[in-house]
Amino acid sequence: MTGPEVLVAGAGGFIGGHLVADLVGKGFEVRAVDGKALDEWHQRIDGADNRRLDLRDQAACNTAVDGVATVYHLAADMGGMGFIESNKALCMLSVLIDTHLLVAAQAAGVQRFFFASSACVYPTDLQTSPDNAGLREADAYPAMPEDGYGWQKLFSERLCRHFLEDFGLETRVARYHNVYGPRGLYTGGREKAPAAICRKVIEAKLSGSDAIEIWGDGEQTRTFTYVDDCVYGTQLIANGDVREPVNVGSAELVTINQLVDVVESIAGVSLQRNYKLDAPLGVRGRKSDNTLVRERFGWEPVVPLATGLEATYGWILDQMTT
Ligand code: NAD
Repeated sequence: MTGPEVLVAGAGGFIGGHLVADLVGKGFEVRAVDGKALDEWHQRIDGADNRRLDLRDQAACNTAVDGVATVYHLAADMGGMGFIESNKALCMLSVLIDTHLLVAAQAAGVQRFFFASSACVYPTDLQTSPDNAGLREADAYPAMPEDGYGWQKLFSERLCRHFLEDFGLETRVARYHNVYGPRGLYTGGREKAPAAICRKVIEAKLSGSDAIEIWGDGEQTRTFTYVDDCVYGTQLIANGDVREPVNVGSAELVTINQLVDVVESIAGVSLQRNYKLDAPLGVRGRKSDNTLVRERFGWEPVVPLATGLEATYGWILDQMTT
């Protein structure tokens, strides 16, 4: 090998930054690539080869993969519900990154190619009740994913599968479920529910307000996955022998109201909840079924929601007050 061992694409993003930090900490030589200017990265890890490249471009992908053995592909134009419901074309254009990176990886003889997919690939009609029993990997078909973003992820999962079957590129796919943690976005429109709720509670506390706005009636359910679990599961799946997509998601199902309860108890406040019923909501109930990841890897996410939220709340509070 002439270059670093590992490429992380989307390294300037939330999960990518944590992944680079972990890999560098373990002694890997990492090329970290993102389309954003370096000073906008969530984390820029000393010791990684940090580069700005627009991976929609084939030549940039060829440069990014040059000499690497493993690709962790996390680059995408995405955000929380507020973003993906009103930017479907932008989300779908991430297929340019997926396609060109796969072509480059195959041409360069990359040994492993990991693709970060999403629970948004699951059919929306399986997620109409808050009492979701759990989405198994096989449930993705027959397909009717989240419009825009979900179709992009499902298409690119399929592309990974056929690059493996037709060209022998060893692709691996994880379906992340609602990942949260310190160093994520908490404002600006792309933030997700856990960080948005932490921010709103902190804002209320700092301003002396006794109310917060909740999107929907608060009874929609999700399973939220702490970023350390996500980074661990990512490497497990990337280096494992399961060639089908695998869920990386907590099994701790909560309503948004229960999420707010936890954040309020961390903050030591109790606020009036104003429900904004016409806000973007996504599906009514979503839960990760972890049978496959348990059976094949003897693992599933372990960090309790209360523990993960405590760290996330603390980090956001620090950002908002210093
Ligand atoms: P993020 O938005 O923080 O990170 C994605 C990064 O990709 C960004 O830094 C962005 O600048 C970069 N990117 C976008 N277009 C690019 C381009 N043309 N060239 C190079 N880089 C480009 O998102 P995240 O939360 O860290 O998610 C990482 C991956 O995991 C994404 O693929 C996302 O779809 C997937 N995922 C995340 C979640 C979650 O809850 N965070 C859930 C399911 C799936």
